[in-house]
Amino acid sequence: MFKIIQDREKCIGCGACVSVCDNWKMDDDGKAKLKKTEVEEVGCNKEAAEICPVQCIKIEEV
Ligand code: SF4
Repeated sequence: MFKIIQDREKCIGCGACVSVCDNWKMDDDGKAKLKKTEVEEVGCNKEAAEICPVQCIKIEEV
């Protein structure tokens, strides 16, 4: 299992994570939000973490 962690304070709402990964959506406050915070496979969350311009997405193996 992997835990996906987003520091929402840092998120600038650029939408990059949403464009590369369907585990992310834009929320009403204009920032991105995770659909699932724990996933079996990292999958596209890895790309989301890499593409995030403010590096506010972290992935931990649990
Ligand atoms: S890529 Fe990073 S800064 Fe951009 S919306 Fe996603 S979490 Fe926020």
